[in-house]
Amino acid sequence: MNIHESEKIAGTLEDLGYSMCENMEEADIIVFNTCCIRDNAEKRALGNIGAIKRLKKSKPGLILAVVGCMTQQDGAGMSLRQKYPYVDIVLGTNNLCELENCILKIKNSGKKSVLIDPNERPQVLENEKVYRTSGCNAWLNIMYGCNNFCTYCIVPYVRGRERSRQMSNILDEFKSLIDQGYKEITLLGQNVNSYGHDLQDGSDFASLLEKISAINGKFRVRFMTSHPKDLNRDVIEIISQSPNICNNIHLPIQSGSNKILQLMNRHYTREYYLDTVDAIKSKIPDCGITTDIMVGFPYEEDDDFEDTLDIVRRVKYSSAFTFIYSVRKGTKAAQMPQISPQVSKERITRLIAEQNKITKELSLGYEGKVYEILCEDNAPKKAGYVCGRTDSGRMVTFKGDESLIGEFVKVKIEKSQSASLFGKITEEE
Ligand code: SF4
Repeated sequence: MNIHESEKIAGTLEDLGYSMCENMEEADIIVFNTCCIRDNAEKRALGNIGAIKRLKKSKPGLILAVVGCMTQQDGAGMSLRQKYPYVDIVLGTNNLCELENCILKIKNSGKKSVLIDPNERPQVLENEKVYRTSGCNAWLNIMYGCNNFCTYCIVPYVRGRERSRQMSNILDEFKSLIDQGYKEITLLGQNVNSYGHDLQDGSDFASLLEKISAINGKFRVRFMTSHPKDLNRDVIEIISQSPNICNNIHLPIQSGSNKILQLMNRHYTREYYLDTVDAIKSKIPDCGITTDIMVGFPYEEDDDFEDTLDIVRRVKYSSAFTFIYSVRKGTKAAQMPQISPQVSKERITRLIAEQNKITKELSLGYEGKVYEILCEDNAPKKAGYVCGRTDSGRMVTFKGDESLIGEFVKVKIEKSQSASLFGKITEEE
C-alpha cells in the first residue's frame, strides 16, 4: 500500500518536471512517505528526517516534505513542525492530493504548508498520476481506509473509514494496465473483502473479481489484504474457477487464541477461521495461504501462545509475517497491561522456528513438479539467473536472462532450500 502511494507521489513529481535521481545529495526535493503502523517504522522515519538537517543546511533550496500516516496522528503535524522546522511541507493522508499545490507555493512564495485534515471519509481520488516502479507487476487500489478498529491498530484513525472506488473506474484502470503490458495486478485495500459495502449498488469483492477475471489477455491477479471475518464462500468459489486469479490468499490470523482474538476485536474465532481455511483447501487444494501473526499482545499467556502454534501447525501456511506486538498510542490495546519483552522474544523465536519447519516441508512438495512462473526480475546476487513466482506465491530462481522478465515460463523445480525454490525452464507440462 505504501509502495503504491509512493508511486503516486512520484507520479505527481514527474508531472511537475522532476525526475528520479540516484542519491539524496543530488535531489531538489525529498518526500518522506511515512508509516506509523509500528513504533519501529515511526522511529526510523523520524531518524531519517533528523538526519536530513545537514543536507538542508548546505542546500537551502532543497524542498523537504513529510507525508503518510505518521503525520495524520493526533498532534503529529504540529510536533513535526516544532521539532524539524526545516521541513517545508507536512501533509496528512487526507491531504496528499495537495502536494502539487504545496510544492508550487513554496517554489513561488517560499511559504511552508502543514495540512492535516481530520475528515474520516475523504473523497476517493480517481485518475491519479502514477510513476510505476514494480516492473511487470502493478498495484491497483480498489478501496481505502478501514472500519474494523482492531484494538492494536492505528490505521482506522489515520486512514479513515472504508471508501470503495467505483467498480467501472477500477475495471477501466485494470484494462489500461493490461494494455500497457503489466502482467500481474495486485488489488489493494486494508480489507479488500469488504469492497463495495459502502457503495450501495450491489458491488462486492466477488463480483469485482468475476468481472476482472473475464477481461481479455494473459495476466495474473493477486489481492491483499483479506480480513478473515469477511472472506466469504463466493470469493473462494470465484478464485477456484478463475485461472487468472492466483491461488494465493493472505489471511491474517494474528492470534490462535479466542481470548486474544476477542481482546484484539477481530470478530472471528479460531474455529471460524479454521472453517474458512477448510473451505479454501477443499475448493483450491494448491492454494498458498499466508498470514500475519502477532505475539506478546497484552494478556497473552502460555496457553494462548500454544493455541497460536497449534493454528500454525494445522493451517500449514506457506509463509507468515511474524511480529512482536508494538504499542500504538491512541489505540485501546495501548491501555492494557503489557507483557514482558523477554517473553515476547522467546515466543517469536519459537513461532519463527515452527513456521520455518513448515515452509521447508512444503518446499519439498514442490520438487520435481512443473509450475508456470511469471518471470519478474533478475535474481538477487546471482548473475545469469532470474526469478519469479508460482501462482501460489512461491518465489523460484532459475537460469535465464533479462529478456524473460515479464514472460510466463514453465519451470521444473529441481531443489528447495527452506523457503527458496530453484528450477530450470522446461517443455514439460
Ligand atoms: S483490519 Fe484491523 S489490523 Fe487491518 S487495518 Fe483494519 S483495524 Fe488495522
